[in-house]
Amino acid sequence: MTVPCADGTAVPSHPSHPQTCRSTGVRLGRRDGSIRPNTVDPRQAAAADLIAAGRRVFVLGRTKRPVANCPACQASKGDPGHDRETCPCLTCHGFYAATDQADRAAAMLAAVPDGLLAIRTGAVSGLAVVDIDPRNGGQLDRELMTPTATVATPGGGWHLYYQHPGRPLPGKLPGRAGVDIKTDGGLVVAPPSTPAGAARGYRWVGDHPVNEMPPALIAACLTPTSPPATPRQPAHPTRVPRFGGGGISDPSALLAATLDTVTRAPEGRRRTTLYGAARGVARIVLAGHLTVTDAVAVLTDVGRRAEQTDRDIRAAIAGGFTAEGLTP
Ligand SMILES: [Zn+2]
Ligand SMILES: [Zn+2]
Repeated sequence: MTVPCADGTAVPSHPSHPQTCRSTGVRLGRRDGSIRPNTVDPRQAAAADLIAAGRRVFVLGRTKRPVANCPACQASKGDPGHDRETCPCLTCHGFYAATDQADRAAAMLAAVPDGLLAIRTGAVSGLAVVDIDPRNGGQLDRELMTPTATVATPGGGWHLYYQHPGRPLPGKLPGRAGVDIKTDGGLVVAPPSTPAGAARGYRWVGDHPVNEMPPALIAACLTPTSPPATPRQPAHPTRVPRFGGGGISDPSALLAATLDTVTRAPEGRRRTTLYGAARGVARIVLAGHLTVTDAVAVLTDVGRRAEQTDRDIRAAIAGGFTAEGLTP
């Protein structure tokens, strides 16, 4: 992606940084007025920058609601023969319309002149975004949420853009009110969009690149903090389904359910339950959804919360992993 420069040269651009003119070193963009207003729809330039960085973009209505489907797509609702991922319509099916083609994004934005530029998050865009909403009690935890490309939101919160960690994550950071994780199956509104009724729009702050998600944050996402009110899985973890060729449809939920068995177990049964959970988690590792390091970390954490000694925890993990043919 290139943008016009004051002296006519073109420079590569980056979505989280103001552009800098290669020949003059002058920063471009609204800060110094180097790009004449109204010559470029700022959403178009932002969309092109995001696509150049590997993101898939689409357009939402001004109120952040999806653009309405066309009558044909509306009528096809529930029809298995109509694939939302490959539907040729420009703006139908919400984030399924997201594109990595700049000209298609330009057409979308032109079709919805007051629409908001949005990103389809997840592996398709290489992004997992931590969404902190102070209106729901969300707080920035600087220790856990290491510096990365950041957007300030109209609601006074932040979107922290991290590289997708290559594994599914739950939609919420457990135990933290007002902190969502926007990843596979999610979306974020992107700068410079301003939703209806907002005093100001989404904007980049700071100039960090999109960094890797720190392991501690990934572990915090995967670690349940309290047992669910009703069991979602059979109480005995050795009954966690085997994965055969079918794979795991929701590894995060399975991991959470497996770990929950330990915290729910009556006192006298926690040690054997931890062993069973280690076997279940080992299978999640063997299916490629979790690293051994993360698996040991989450099992150690849940074991400690179940008041097991570190020695017993290590023994349970080693025994459970070995039983599943995994080297701890
Ligand atoms: Zn359509
Ligand atoms: Zn369609």
